[in-house]
Amino acid sequence: MVEPTARVTVRAPAKINLHLGVGGPRPDGMHPLATVYQAVGLYDDVTVTDAADWSVGLTAPIDGVPLDDDNIAVRAGRALVAHHGVDLAARITIAKGIPVMGGMAGGSADAAATLLALDRLWDLQTSDDDLLAIAATLGSDVPFALVGGTALGTGRGEVVSPIPDSTSVWWVVVLADEGLSTPAVYRHFDELSPDAPAEPPIPRALIDALADGYTEEVGALLVNDLWPAARDLRPDLVDVEEQLRLLTPDGVLLSGSGPTLLMLHDDVEEARSAVTELRERGLRCTIAPGPVAGAHVVTYA
Ligand code: ATP
Repeated sequence: MVEPTARVTVRAPAKINLHLGVGGPRPDGMHPLATVYQAVGLYDDVTVTDAADWSVGLTAPIDGVPLDDDNIAVRAGRALVAHHGVDLAARITIAKGIPVMGGMAGGSADAAATLLALDRLWDLQTSDDDLLAIAATLGSDVPFALVGGTALGTGRGEVVSPIPDSTSVWWVVVLADEGLSTPAVYRHFDELSPDAPAEPPIPRALIDALADGYTEEVGALLVNDLWPAARDLRPDLVDVEEQLRLLTPDGVLLSGSGPTLLMLHDDVEEARSAVTELRERGLRCTIAPGPVAGAHVVTYA
């Protein structure tokens, strides 16, 4: 007899938005987006084991991550069992490598990883379409964390279509000491942009540059509509942004709703020397390759 799987670990990547076009709020309060997502090589690992009740823990304590039913990983687990109408629960353990409240969708990555890990643990055989639909109920960025690579996101970001990307790049990821609340950034965006369109335009030039592998052009086409709002809420970002632009005039970007900043390089040695220089100035930074795969199983035991 084959022993049932007792433990599954799924690794899920951080995301950045090469283009984040934001429209005015819809009647349901959500913002319509036209975004180009890219999965980058910073990861959370989520391990699940069967248990009598739901619980969640971290391999190392991190401020700001709830350890109760508010954790999006537990919400993901409950949504999956509700979808299948089964009475199961799990212990979820998260090893966080994605900055918390950094605009890199770490919580969404954990939700996607939990869906996939529990599906495999219990052999639920959830179809890809159903996994994506459950993911969309948990958060706008969760479906993309399942898909990975580079993709166009529409709707409120939950409608994800993979796009061809012939680039292979290195992002210098500059971390802030304090997080930034995504809802606060969107609220301030609404104040600054009362005339935002109902349907933000699809960034065709960027999509073509990615397909053609023109990294330099991609660098010149990076857009984030939330940037003015994030700058207002966090004036300390302006100085860091200026420092980055002196190193790389094109290719500097705010990650999602911030406060993480990104700098694009197509050469890993250049990325490494930028990191050395920025660290000497006291900035906290690391390197992440892009694009990388979406949530995937790394251990069955
Ligand atoms: P996004 O870009 O999707 O807004 P973010 O990367 O800025 O996300 P997260 O790290 O995902 O921010 O955290 C956002 C909020 O979600 C935090 O305030 C945190 O309290 C809550 N949260 C719930 N579950 C988790 C989780 N598993 N990991 C991190 N944060 C979580």
